[in-house]
Amino acid sequence: MTSLPDDVVAVDEVEREAWEAGRLLEARELGDGFWSVPTSIPEGTLPGTLGYALIGDDGVHLIDPGWDTPENLHRIERALAAEERSLSDIRTIIVTHHHPDHLGIAGRMRTLTGARLVMSAAERSVLAAVTAPAARDPEAYRDTLARWGVPEGRREELVASFARPSLTGDVEPDLQVVDGDVLELGGHRLEVIATPGHTGGHICLADRASRFLFTGDHVLPRIYSGVGIGILAGTEPMGDLLSSLDRLAEFDDFTVLPGHEFRFVGLASRRGAISAHHLRRTGEVAALVTKLGDRSVWTYASRLTWTSGWRGLDGFWLHSALRQTEMHLELVRSGRAQGWLNPD
Ligand SMILES: [Zn+2]
Repeated sequence: MTSLPDDVVAVDEVEREAWEAGRLLEARELGDGFWSVPTSIPEGTLPGTLGYALIGDDGVHLIDPGWDTPENLHRIERALAAEERSLSDIRTIIVTHHHPDHLGIAGRMRTLTGARLVMSAAERSVLAAVTAPAARDPEAYRDTLARWGVPEGRREELVASFARPSLTGDVEPDLQVVDGDVLELGGHRLEVIATPGHTGGHICLADRASRFLFTGDHVLPRIYSGVGIGILAGTEPMGDLLSSLDRLAEFDDFTVLPGHEFRFVGLASRRGAISAHHLRRTGEVAALVTKLGDRSVWTYASRLTWTSGWRGLDGFWLHSALRQTEMHLELVRSGRAQGWLNPD
């Protein structure tokens, strides 16, 4: 079990132990009207998502309701029943980003309850882009592989692994928010903080009175979440992510309520660790650019070190390695990397 650095501390040992055992807890009361509402993820490696409910006199407001399964609907129903509320009391569903383990059940829940669905304006555009047929066009992907300099003999395995269906359908939100907007819900003021990086329109929510910061998948206590998983063309996700980590400095003494794992304090330390994790790679790519000059993504990627070895990478994992290399390369070429790599 990976231990946490001393200054990143779980606020609830029960929550941390449950995550480490791969066990989902029932909803837990967090104070100030907030509840955590864990939901399950039917595929992949993570046991679940941490959604949150704010239960107020004006009804129930959800953050990241979870994957669209009947079991998760029952989980949310059970959580509300403990407070003598039901699904029909849900007024608002806010999603930090469009991934199926966060947005998944939101559309169905809106239909059942009439609640308002809230996402950022940028994420709305990202969702439209990733669910458009063009996002799954193998010819466009072949062009990308050619641009990356992938040898002919390796292209078809990548095209084959690329042909997976989208796990999220397009959903039209009732309200689109931008950085600085405030949602007044349940006697609380939830401030929208734009934190692009994990996706192009990811948001965090800050409650300055409760000193709670809802971070979705932008900041997790131990997991390094992926970068650029759903973005708009022309954006540079690695630099956006690093800016979005800096952006949270004013909340360093808040309790962090993430989208997975467990709640924790020690945001400054965790932000630093996530930045350092990515910048190590950016530094390696920058050094290769200095050494080799202007080469293809394939050439740079083949000279980096990979956990399973460069030769061990195939299919989706090869794609992922190439895409990561490209994102670091874009950050180096954008000129934005200098300030983070050489901060003085
Ligand atoms: Zn997630």
